[in-house]
Amino acid sequence: MKTEVKTLDFNTDWEYSPALESTDHIHIQEPTDLFISGEFIPGVRGKYFETINPANEEKIANVAEAEKADVDLAVKAARKAYDNVWSKMKPTERGKYIFRIARLIQERAREFAVIESLDGGKPIRESRDVDVPLSAAHFFYYAGWADKLEYAFPGRDAHPVGVAGQIIPWNFPLLMAAWKLAPALATGNTVVLKPAETTPLTAMKLAEIIQECDLPPGVVNIINGGGNTGQALVEHADVDKIAFTGSTEVGKFIMKTVVGTGKKYTLELGGKAANILFDDAPVDQAVEGIVNGIFFNQGHVCCAGSRLFVQENIAENVISKLKERMETLIVGDPLDKNTDIGAINSKIQLDKIKMYVDIGQKEGGSIFQSPCSLPKMGYWHAPTLFTDVSQSHRIVQEEIFGPVLAIQTFRTVDEVIMKANNTPYGLSGGVWTDKGSKIFSLSKKIRAGVIWANTFNKFDPSAPFGGYKESGLGREGGVEGLMPYVNLV
Ligand code: NAP
Ligand code: MG
Repeated sequence: MKTEVKTLDFNTDWEYSPALESTDHIHIQEPTDLFISGEFIPGVRGKYFETINPANEEKIANVAEAEKADVDLAVKAARKAYDNVWSKMKPTERGKYIFRIARLIQERAREFAVIESLDGGKPIRESRDVDVPLSAAHFFYYAGWADKLEYAFPGRDAHPVGVAGQIIPWNFPLLMAAWKLAPALATGNTVVLKPAETTPLTAMKLAEIIQECDLPPGVVNIINGGGNTGQALVEHADVDKIAFTGSTEVGKFIMKTVVGTGKKYTLELGGKAANILFDDAPVDQAVEGIVNGIFFNQGHVCCAGSRLFVQENIAENVISKLKERMETLIVGDPLDKNTDIGAINSKIQLDKIKMYVDIGQKEGGSIFQSPCSLPKMGYWHAPTLFTDVSQSHRIVQEEIFGPVLAIQTFRTVDEVIMKANNTPYGLSGGVWTDKGSKIFSLSKKIRAGVIWANTFNKFDPSAPFGGYKESGLGREGGVEGLMPYVNLV
């Protein structure tokens, strides 16, 4: 009699036991007020909005909403701190405060990571291993520059710009706050920061740390609210510089508002990166890189590798390996350490992703989705890829900002360069090949601010980051990241 040999199916025969990160040690202020002049205060009109956990739609906290009058208070506090204290302080002393912020983020790293995952939906593994350590690293890096500006700008005197208005998105809430605050403070500016409406909580935890550090009142002010609050900050006459990270649409609007006012501005906007895979690349490693490129942080990443270009002769093999790998991705509770893909940040964003998936199908693309079961409550989307798409498809041209990959093939280097550059964006890109010469030649020809080679989505505070074309103006990170916050004499 023949016995049937059963092979172990990794998708149905077993699963990981849940490994939930505890929330016992978390303290969230209720309500969470505005942080102005070193104090937590309610808004002038006492208005609050709710921030929810996108994984279960439950309210986490009431958050004070800043109106025009509050924005004005925050800018006045920043101006006073700039004139009386911060711009006059010795750079070595400024540096000490920034080092202190960095160390306190490290000390409270777990609390930050859990709040980031609760408020925004990203997997705890990412907030713990990427967002929080990188945020601390940015403060450490720029703290080091505070008393060395003459080396950053040899032969020139670097003067602070004044009061900076900073507006950030919801995809990397703490990290974006760090990218904005650290270089501004190191160069002697004071700040009014506005986090995104759906993810205010880690920035407010940072405000607690800033208070604990005894940073002089008014040097950092953090106010919450939606687009109107951001707009009031942009329009405020006493703000000297606007630093904005967000969508290209809002970026253009901000540019129109500030042009001609004398304000300095930097814009870090959207992207639609080409991730290019040649037939001489290590395929398994590349598949991991493609997965990381598009599914990291649910694809809510401005530099996500959302357009994959595979050399035609290996396309079948790569796509089949990619589908297999997608089947093993764990979608679920952001606080579970096994989770690969967490919740979509908001209902609005989920609707936008679904709209694009619909468009992709209607325009003739072939869809594949990993067969994962999605939780009932909260906002979720299965990892998705499209084949049979071309340059003219909307899902190839427009930024989806979700876990949706569009795959095309190519035959020659010139063809893929042309296809990769055929986009209004130019933030990032990736090249997978065995040949160093191909990497160097391609990275010069792809018009994007960052090109990764045989890896993707790697960040370091010493590396400048920013876009070409509609992906923005100016650089953040590195020595270059000091430039927007100084006037050189
Ligand atoms: P968004 O709608 O442009 O919002 C970004 C920030 O601007 C939020 O704080 C938002 O407040 C605020 N805002 C909205 N309307 C405004 C206005 N008229 N004036 C001033 N501020 C205003 O973008 P998002 O949807 O939050 O973020 C996703 C986008 O950010 C994507 O396009 C992504 O590519 C981009 N991004 C770029 C980078 C980069 O470094 N290049 C990094 C991360 C994200 P509310 O949240 O309350 O609406
Ligand atoms: Mg939230």
